[in-house]
Amino acid sequence: MRFTVDAPTEGDAPVSSAISTHEINEVCPSREKTRVAVTGAGGFIGHHLVRYLKDAGYSVRGVDIKLPEYEKSAADEFVQIDLRDPECCARAVRNMSEVYHLAADMGGIGYITGSHADIARNNSLMNIGMLEAARQAGVARFLFSSSACVYPQGLQKSPDVTPLKEEDAWPAEPEEGYGLEKLYMEKLCQYYREDHGIATRVVRFHNVYGPLGTYDGGREKAPAAMCRKIAEATEGGQIQVWGDGRQTRSFMYIDDCVEGIFRIMRSDYVGPLNLGTDELVTIDELAKLVMEISDKSLSLVHDPSKPQGVRGRNSDNQLLREVLQWEPSTPLRKGMEPTYRWIAQQIARDGDVRAAKRAAAVV
Ligand code: NAD
Repeated sequence: MRFTVDAPTEGDAPVSSAISTHEINEVCPSREKTRVAVTGAGGFIGHHLVRYLKDAGYSVRGVDIKLPEYEKSAADEFVQIDLRDPECCARAVRNMSEVYHLAADMGGIGYITGSHADIARNNSLMNIGMLEAARQAGVARFLFSSSACVYPQGLQKSPDVTPLKEEDAWPAEPEEGYGLEKLYMEKLCQYYREDHGIATRVVRFHNVYGPLGTYDGGREKAPAAMCRKIAEATEGGQIQVWGDGRQTRSFMYIDDCVEGIFRIMRSDYVGPLNLGTDELVTIDELAKLVMEISDKSLSLVHDPSKPQGVRGRNSDNQLLREVLQWEPSTPLRKGMEPTYRWIAQQIARDGDVRAAKRAAAVV
């Protein structure tokens, strides 16, 4: 077990600024001095959420087994611990008023279809430990990051899929491992709320993308993987697309995601809520969009032997709109532009580092 405390970041530019301070004051007038913990603060969404909550005036404890990879955390305090250990969960929530629980063992479709046992075990231990620790510590609000992977496979067999409503999750037939565990934790949040009175919130994310997300190593998701492949390809070359490219998804930009998380935490709605967009695209369309942004002309080579997940998935935002009078609105093209630029920069930098290593080895 290791504990690390970081000083707050001074110089970094804010990443998420979609909601103004004035609007935050309206949503949450008494935030000052409220102490909140964000688990998964070393990961993609958690890192952005920490910055967002700091900008909104909260005192933030970041918690993760690892530090953020690409820039320093903006958290007041960063606790580096393994949340599979119940004692670490207790450490994570000590003296906290609210908890945003985002830590999870997860990745893109290749990872979640190939690691059922690890994912189910690690996430069960973390989720049960965190909810119980929050109850024991008297935490006022606890938000759980669930996923669109809870929805029944049988409702997602066509690329022209009917958008998924919250009520569709039952009767259940979720994604093996990852989705089943998320669905179980959703129920656990409900039971803890009913039996122990802890105010829980459940957010079902639909494919989140943006700068500062994993783009290589096997855990990256489709938008980041597409940006990486296209950034690495030479003009006129080829890139590989998993599946036949006609599978469909909707994608939400990270700024909308953190704003939505915050709004859902502040709302009075206790049931699961979709958080995503309903701008449905095929994976081939996503690839072509990134090619346009990159100004490269490449051909797509499909590999149907690779996992492609469900055939189609889209978010029905009717309930979200009713509850929040708000929904994610960043068009895919607008969000993919900074995402591609950031990943292309990373690739160029990685190339420089590799070239420098090769040069050093030669000398
Ligand atoms: P991420 O992998 O970037 O972040 C998850 C973080 O959890 C990582 O930093 C990881 O180190 C941490 N973690 C894993 N095991 C841990 C442990 N034992 N102890 C402490 N920390 C541990 O993922 P993300 O994209 O930021 O996702 C955040 C949450 O949102 C997750 O719960 C995920 O399941 C959910 N979600 C994300 C998406 C998406 O598109 N990114 C979609 C649906 C749901």
